[in-house]
Amino acid sequence: MVGAGLVGSATACALAAQGRRVLVVERRAPLTALPDDVRGLVLAPASVEVLERCGLWAPLASHAAPIRHIRISERGAFGCVRLDAAEAGLEALGWSCPADLMLSELNAALVRTGTIEISWSTRFVDARAGAETVTVELATAEGPREVAAQLLVGADGARSLVRHAAGIEVDRVDYGQSAVVANLDAPALAADLAIEHFTAEGPLALLPRGGTRFVSVQCLERAHAQRAAQLAPQAYLERLAARAGQRLGELDGLGPRRVHALARQRARSLVAARTVIVGNAANTVHPNGAQGLNLGLRDVAALDAVLRDADDIGSRTLLASYAARRAPDHRAIGTFTHLAAQAFASPLPPVRWARRAALAALAHAPPLRRRLVGELSGLGALARLAAPGGEAP
Ligand SMILES: Cc1cc2nc3c(=O)[nH]c(=O)nc-3n(C[C@H](O)[C@H](O)[C@H](O)COP(=O)(O)OP(=O)(O)OC[C@H]3O[C@@H](n4cnc5c(N)ncnc54)[C@H](O)[C@@H]3O)c2cc1C
Repeated sequence: MVGAGLVGSATACALAAQGRRVLVVERRAPLTALPDDVRGLVLAPASVEVLERCGLWAPLASHAAPIRHIRISERGAFGCVRLDAAEAGLEALGWSCPADLMLSELNAALVRTGTIEISWSTRFVDARAGAETVTVELATAEGPREVAAQLLVGADGARSLVRHAAGIEVDRVDYGQSAVVANLDAPALAADLAIEHFTAEGPLALLPRGGTRFVSVQCLERAHAQRAAQLAPQAYLERLAARAGQRLGELDGLGPRRVHALARQRARSLVAARTVIVGNAANTVHPNGAQGLNLGLRDVAALDAVLRDADDIGSRTLLASYAARRAPDHRAIGTFTHLAAQAFASPLPPVRWARRAALAALAHAPPLRRRLVGELSGLGALARLAAPGGEAP
C-alpha cells in the first residue's frame, strides 16, 4: 500500500481486518501534531457505513457535525432548493468532519492494529509486475529497499507515482480555480445547515463544524483566490457575505485561510498488472459536490468485497472484477461534479435557462430531491457493490 492518506489508511485497515499482511509506505514522517488542513470533509451516509465496517467511525463520530438541511441557490435566480434529511428518510444528509482530525485518527488506527507494518518517511520509487508478485522499489530513510507483494495498492494521491509506474494514463482538466478554505463563526445559522451557492466565478459553500463554527469554501478564479486569501479578515468576511446571495447574519472569528488548486483528473484504468489505484490516485474531482473522499471510501468497500477470501489477491480476474464494479460509480461522480462545475460557470443563455429549470424542478418536486439525495448519499452505489457480481459496467 503506498500512501497513508485518508483512503490509504482506510484501505490498509480493511485489508488487515481480513487477516492480510499489509505494508504501508508513506513518504511523510508520522504525525506528531494535527496536520495543517482547515477543511471540513463531508462524509456521505455510505462512507460512514464503510468506516463503521472497518472500525474507523467510532474515533471520528464525536468530531463530526451532522448536516440535516442543505440550501442550494444560484446568484441571480429566485428562491433556492432545500434538501432535508427527514424528507429523504435519513438521519443526516452527511457528516462534516475536520480533515486534520480525520487524518490523525485514521493514522492512529493504522498503528493501533498492531499488525500493519508502516514505513514512514519512505518514498515509492518504482514497481515491476511479474507473474506471481510485483516487486516494489522504495527509498527509505536507511537507504533503498525492495519488497515483493501479491498486490500493489496506489493510494498515493493525485500525483500518484504508482499510477505512473503502472503505465496508467490520466485525462486532466484544470478548472483554473482555487478553493479558499477557512473556518468562521456564523451564529445566525442553524448548526445542522449546509449552504451551497453557485456563482459564475465558482461555488461557495458553508459546512457546519459544530455549534456556531462553520467551514467556508470559496471557489474563485486562481488569481482572485490568492488575493482573497490575503485580504484583511473583516474585508474577507464582508466579501464572503456579499457573495453568498442569502442572509448569513453576522460572521466573525475567521481562522487561517488555505488555498487548494482545483482540477479534475481521471485515470484511464483503475487497475494494471498486480496493481490497483484508489482514491485521488484514480479520480480527483471538483469539490462542489463533496464527493472525492466518498468515492475513495467506496473504492475501499469494493476492494474489501472483491479480495475477501481470495488466495491470490493480485490475480488478473480479481482486479478486472474490481474495475468493472467501480467504473460506473467513478464515471457517474466524475461526470456529475464536472458538469456542475461547467454548467454553473457558463454565461451562455441556453445553459443558464437549463440550470435554472433544473433547480426550479428540484425545488418543486420532492421525488426528484429524494432521488438526488439518494445518489449523493452513496448508499445505492454501496448496495450495488455488495450485490453478487457487483455493479455491471
Ligand atoms: C477544498 C476541498 C474540499 C473537499 N471536500 C470534500 C468533501 O467535503 N467530501 C469529500 O468526500 N471529498 C472532499 N474533497 C476531496 C478529498 O479531500 C480527497 O478526495 C481525499 O482527501 C483524497 O484522499 P487520498 O487518500 O486518496 O489522497 P491524499 O490525501 O492525497 O493522500 C495521498 C498520500 O500518499 C502519500 N504519497 C504520495 N506520493 C507518495 C510516494 N511516492 N511514496 C509514498 N507516499 C506517497 C502522501 O504523502 C499522502 O499521505 C475535497 C477536496 C478539496 C480540495
